[in-house]
Amino acid sequence: MMSFRRDYITKPIFKWAKTALPALSETEAEAISSGDVHFEAELFSGKPDWTMLRKMKAPTLTAEEQAFVDGPCRAFCDMLDNWQIDRVDGDLPKEAWDYLRENGFFGMIIPKEYGGKGFSAYAHSEVVRYISSRSVAGAVTVMVPNSLGPGELILQFGTQEQRDDWLPRLASGKELPAFGLTSEDAGSDASAMVDEGVICKQEWQGEEVLGIRLNWAKRYITLSPVCTVLGLAFQLRDPDGLLGDTPDIGITCALVPTDLDGVETGRRHLPSGTMFMNGPTTGKDVFIPLENIIGGPDYAGKGWMMLMSALAAGRGISLPSLSAAGTALAAHTTGAYARVRKQFNMPIGLFGGVQEPMARIAANAYTIDAGRRLTTAALDEGHKLAVISAIMKYHATTRMRESINDAMDVHSGKAVIDGPLNYLQPHYRAIPIGITVEGANIVTRNLIIFGQGAIRAHPHLLDEMQALQEPDPEKSLTDFDKHFWAHVGHSTRTFFRGWWSAWTGRGDVPDNAGDIAPLYARLSRWSAAFAVTADMAFLTLGGELKRKEMISARLGDALSEMFLVSAALKRWEDDGRHEADLPLVQYAAEVSFNRIGRALDETIANFPARWVGWLLRPTLLPRSRSRGPSDKLAEQCAMILYHPSQTRDRLVGPLHPGEPDSGQGLLDTAYRMVIDAEPLTKRLRKLKQSPADALKAGALTDAEFAQLQRVDAAVQKVVAVDEYSPEEIAAMFPDAPQHPDSFTPREAAE
Ligand SMILES: Cc1cc2nc3c(=O)[nH]c(=O)nc-3n(C[C@H](O)[C@H](O)[C@H](O)COP(=O)(O)OP(=O)(O)OC[C@H]3O[C@@H](n4cnc5c(N)ncnc54)[C@H](O)[C@@H]3O)c2cc1C
Repeated sequence: MMSFRRDYITKPIFKWAKTALPALSETEAEAISSGDVHFEAELFSGKPDWTMLRKMKAPTLTAEEQAFVDGPCRAFCDMLDNWQIDRVDGDLPKEAWDYLRENGFFGMIIPKEYGGKGFSAYAHSEVVRYISSRSVAGAVTVMVPNSLGPGELILQFGTQEQRDDWLPRLASGKELPAFGLTSEDAGSDASAMVDEGVICKQEWQGEEVLGIRLNWAKRYITLSPVCTVLGLAFQLRDPDGLLGDTPDIGITCALVPTDLDGVETGRRHLPSGTMFMNGPTTGKDVFIPLENIIGGPDYAGKGWMMLMSALAAGRGISLPSLSAAGTALAAHTTGAYARVRKQFNMPIGLFGGVQEPMARIAANAYTIDAGRRLTTAALDEGHKLAVISAIMKYHATTRMRESINDAMDVHSGKAVIDGPLNYLQPHYRAIPIGITVEGANIVTRNLIIFGQGAIRAHPHLLDEMQALQEPDPEKSLTDFDKHFWAHVGHSTRTFFRGWWSAWTGRGDVPDNAGDIAPLYARLSRWSAAFAVTADMAFLTLGGELKRKEMISARLGDALSEMFLVSAALKRWEDDGRHEADLPLVQYAAEVSFNRIGRALDETIANFPARWVGWLLRPTLLPRSRSRGPSDKLAEQCAMILYHPSQTRDRLVGPLHPGEPDSGQGLLDTAYRMVIDAEPLTKRLRKLKQSPADALKAGALTDAEFAQLQRVDAAVQKVVAVDEYSPEEIAAMFPDAPQHPDSFTPREAAE
């Protein structure tokens, strides 16, 4: 029976699959084996195991980590002034740089035995989040040495000598690292770089040694203008066979001290007006000994695998934490501003039109932070999250962009006029940086999330692909037969589950799910529908799916939204199941369900094989899809930002408060004063009188009148924007041609 199935049914499919499924290149296979899967694999299975999610420990800080956030982190932030950094000095103040070095900020991920802080992924994320709430330039400066770069690479792959030699100096800040991957000719397709290292012999410290002669031209490298060591990625070649018989060894990562002859650093780019250190670097015939390869000569040519592996941690922490901070700041300031700013004699936050963006900001702040916590918890369990980190990179930065834009719209002119009082502009300017770095968002959405997710997280696909690549033909067919039929069984069960739950609205719900039980059920339903649609994409498109980027992107969207809803459900439970927080979870889930429905609908509509649509649409999408959050839910979420409450505090989390006279400090003061004076303003509204008339009529006491005047003055300070005299403008642009006074229109007309 077994051989009949294998020889007569599986064999033709096996032959077809060999041509239809893409062969894994060595680089791809290495990259795939360098990461692992986590909860996204459950979502991919069509029947998520909710116990796995719920039993994960909520991340917390140790006393030492908390003290670091409350102490040195706060002190560092107090030294930063965005206007001074971005518009005047073009750099962090020297005392801030010194403080970072002296207080171990550059060694957060380095273990204590090497003099580092040995912080958890969550603590690292909390530090980046807090600093980002104050200054993007400050945050990026701290982020890079702790993310992808020499520190992370040496930790994961370095030899013991490299660890002993480099890690203490990196931890103490004696060495400042930068990571050089992107080159003048290769951006997203970094593997196409032509930066080159050639194996050769040369004199080094008085002896002739085997080493590498490097030539590179890198661009956009953060910290390169000031770094002391470059973690350099290049193509390694051995044309003279000095290492072996492989002339093209492949991408390799090595440590290159910047004081070596031929290294050029120092020139700067100006990244979107956010003045952290970033610039090009070139190297001309720079010689390094072979021992400088990270991991030693055994790791020559393994650079791509190393980068993929190291990227998984950094990508899951740095930009999601920065995005969580930017969105939380948008939530906090927009809620407060919408309460103090009045138009048509009403706080603008009471208008439905303003509540809509406020609700989006609130739900985004909730979801991004939920995703950040789940991701760092999984990283702290030791996982290398290739797919989840790509999901978080893309969706956290995209939702931050949406939220900052919404905050700008609500603040209107206040947010447009630049100057020290503007607390949104630094984040607005930095949006494109987050979108571009660590995998530009379009390529991450279209190629990486589902492209990697499909192979890694699907319960059978990787096994099938590996079986197809097995060199022994008999074993290849036998293995394929086993995995293919397991796949068929899985697909059949998922198809019926998808059909049943789409038609009945029922799905798996874990025990004791409480108020969010219906959301679990709907997520289970979407997981089944997604799994069936993804399987149909593999079946009908095979390797072609790689090139059908729009289909791949939509499937990636559905997977990502499911991950984010799972994170929101987990957060609600971890936070203590507060009823008052429910609108945030519900709004977030409704947005995601709507997006998942649309993504699957559009995927099905665009399958080249029309019969797939006829089969899948009535099976999986029998009813019109979720319409998204109701207006009532939107109003509830907006009011969470509008009124002070514990829900609001939980949502916004710790943010740097700004000085009392900063834009943010003035807003916080006015917000409190407006709320304190609310009984008086309500009384006036009922009387339909101005404060002066009410005072005259005896409806207000002198003290109450004075309080209202103080409130008014505080609000005026908030809505005020920066303005400059012609002399001040001339000082800002000293090289600009100065127009004579007569050049004003009025005088010109005379
Ligand atoms: C401020 C800043 C800091 C940086 N820091 C560093 C650093 O420290 N170290 C470092 O090595 N690099 C760094 N980078 C480089 C960064 O990683 C690259 O900019 C990024 O990889 C994109 O490359 P690119 O800008 O050349 O765009 P390109 O690769 O030319 O891409 C252009 C557009 O095409 C899209 N695209 C490309 N290929 C595909 C595809 N197959 N499918 C769909 N869309 C695609 C991209 O998403 C993008 O939207 C930094 C960049 C900036 C701007």
